[in-house]
Amino acid sequence: MSNATQLAPAAPPIEKQTTVGNYFVSNYPPFSFWKPEFVQDALAALDRPAPADLQSAIAEEAQERRVGVLEAGRNKRSAGGLECWEGLSPSLHHSITPPHSAPPSLQPGHALFANPQSAIHNPQPPPLGVYLHIPFCRKRCHFCYFKVYTDKDSPAIRGYIEAALRELALYAAKPALAGRKANFVYFGGGTPSYLSVDQLTQLTQGMKQLVPWDEAEEVTFECEPGTLTSHKLEAIREMGVTRLSLGVENFDDHILEINGRAHHSKEIARAYSFARELGFPQINIDLIAGMVEETESNWRECVRKAIDLSPDSVTIYQMEVPYNTGIYQTMKAAGQLAAPVADWETKRAWVGWAFAELEKAGYTVGSAYTAVKNKDTARFLYRDRLWAGADLIGLGVASFGHLQGTHYQNQHDFEPYVNAVQSGRFPIYRAMTPTAEERLIREFILQLKLGQTRCDYFLKKFGVDVRERFAEPLQRLHDWGFGEVEDGTVRLSREGLLQVDRLLHEFFLPEHRNARYA
Ligand code: SF4
Repeated sequence: MSNATQLAPAAPPIEKQTTVGNYFVSNYPPFSFWKPEFVQDALAALDRPAPADLQSAIAEEAQERRVGVLEAGRNKRSAGGLECWEGLSPSLHHSITPPHSAPPSLQPGHALFANPQSAIHNPQPPPLGVYLHIPFCRKRCHFCYFKVYTDKDSPAIRGYIEAALRELALYAAKPALAGRKANFVYFGGGTPSYLSVDQLTQLTQGMKQLVPWDEAEEVTFECEPGTLTSHKLEAIREMGVTRLSLGVENFDDHILEINGRAHHSKEIARAYSFARELGFPQINIDLIAGMVEETESNWRECVRKAIDLSPDSVTIYQMEVPYNTGIYQTMKAAGQLAAPVADWETKRAWVGWAFAELEKAGYTVGSAYTAVKNKDTARFLYRDRLWAGADLIGLGVASFGHLQGTHYQNQHDFEPYVNAVQSGRFPIYRAMTPTAEERLIREFILQLKLGQTRCDYFLKKFGVDVRERFAEPLQRLHDWGFGEVEDGTVRLSREGLLQVDRLLHEFFLPEHRNARYA
């Protein structure tokens, strides 16, 4: 970034109002580029042992790239490959030619994978995570865009648990999983705490037999406060959960009610105090800035109440309104373009205020969404490992996973998911194997959400100097006052961090920039 003093160009226009669409960037390339045609790549990845064969496969790929580059005569530096446990490049994976099948070093303008020293000297397998989606909730919140069911009875839930265990058994039998244990586990939803103690016991005992957790460094469990009793929380602690995440969202009963939440404020206090008594190592509280009818004074009160509880971390999302939300259905029926929630500027200001209050209370802002009470002990391995390319078995309806370089998503609907598993098939619906360049972009943009990321990480892992590769968008961030590169670190300003998701598009490849995200 240059230090030239000149009038800073205006940042890209932002819609003031909250309109329909996805704001949060959770992965890259966008999901609309994940296709059923690439499911066979995910299946092939499962049949490949990890990591024993990884080294020779990467070496082979690097050699292919060297030959290709020399033949093309485009870039004499492009002799490198990937290192670490990042998996293989699509040139080895895709039996169907994807739109981005050329080796990245051959793509015009992207010949930067160039560090021969970085290749192939660390064939360690990536950490392995297990994610299970529990798609049941007491009510559907009006802002919810997840796959959830509010009408499943006990036999259907039991059938789902059996299907999830059967799905995990399919994975456990594959060469890609041979000898591997879970490093981190995540129960998301939906509402994992909707399950009864018996159901949770059956589920977790079965999971541990298939892919052991005894070495897991983190087990996260999402809860809806109104579903928690002391008995259930004891069972959750007993399962080995280390990080309990409470979906509080707001402390005001009227706001909770009007947004379709099932719980009330009294249940928050009760659940939190049970959880504290049981000694969970980490308790996180989720809040949403900008719920329907929320006012500034309500928001301030919410933040104060969250701080009073003194959780280990507070996660704050800015309300977005994707297409499959109840709020959008109501807007559509009324012919409204703007959602009845705070505009983006207001939401950023509210989150900025919340972060400042949390900092005054001793918290440290650790990402665009999270403040932690003790930065030396509070961790969120699920996030950090995934943003660094870890493997993840994604179990359950609509779940996302990633194995040996291929990302995938399961069937979106209950019956097709259960039926596929019951007939012994992986319920994978669509997949995508990013190129090395896309993997670099993916990790870079996701890690930018932490507020800062080290350039040498990318040099070591991808053989790429991100200052050079992303010179133009980094310059734009600098000109807009949203970021700097200093001492080998790309760092966002607080203003930049508060709107990081929209800024990340600046780093997308051109073909992904104006595409629908989901
Ligand atoms: S509790 Fe969470 S998953 Fe369930 S409906 Fe509400 S937002 Fe969606």
